[in-house]
Amino acid sequence: MKATSRHAGHRQALADKVAASGVKHLKTLEAIATVPRHAFMDAGLHAQAYEDSALPIGHQQTISKPSVVARMIELLHKNKNPLGRVLEIGTGCGYQAAVLSLLAAEVYSIERIRPLHDLARAKLRPFRIHNLRLIYGDGILGLPQVAPFDAIILAAAGLGIPDALLDQLAIGGRLIAPVARNANAQQLLLIERVSSQRYQRTALDEVFFVPLQSGVI
Ligand code: SAH
Repeated sequence: MKATSRHAGHRQALADKVAASGVKHLKTLEAIATVPRHAFMDAGLHAQAYEDSALPIGHQQTISKPSVVARMIELLHKNKNPLGRVLEIGTGCGYQAAVLSLLAAEVYSIERIRPLHDLARAKLRPFRIHNLRLIYGDGILGLPQVAPFDAIILAAAGLGIPDALLDQLAIGGRLIAPVARNANAQQLLLIERVSSQRYQRTALDEVFFVPLQSGVI
């Protein structure tokens, strides 16, 4: 994705807000300063596109909060190594997929709501991103034909981490997901696969995401 000068000030201001929230990983901040977030939203919401907040994208779903997108992507990075093959569950409008495409060798993103999958395809088309594949399907099943993944990121909160996704994580790979603790609270969970049988879990920040749901619609 090529950055243009239009909206550069807005994009940089958003990256500054994300940095102020505590994100330090420079490449992630640069990606936030590159992707024009308004291009993934309805025209009626463009004025709010560079605020650090989640906003509606239709079908009762949201475009995620930029500081949380950046925090999760920062956590996927082990040391300073670039990301290899990444799987995103919950494409939504495609914003986070575009950010990931700047940081990873290959990105696969799954969405279960057909109109949102189509919307993301349309929103992403002008950017001609060659290392990003969008898939319409149930992300709970992952993408076994493409696995293993060096990194897996969930943009929707389940009650736990789907087994298929744990299986599809490369050894040494990282998965980050919001997980529901009870009806009103969710927490980010970082999982690193240390060997074929061993996974190390770290519970992190409180977050608020839409629910992970099974099946396609
Ligand atoms: N990644 C988005 C956030 C989208 S919101 C961004 O760039 O801001 C989360 C999305 O996850 C919703 O579009 C929702 O439909 C989707 N989702 C929920 N459960 C899913 C599942 N099992 N498989 C694929 N997508 C799912």
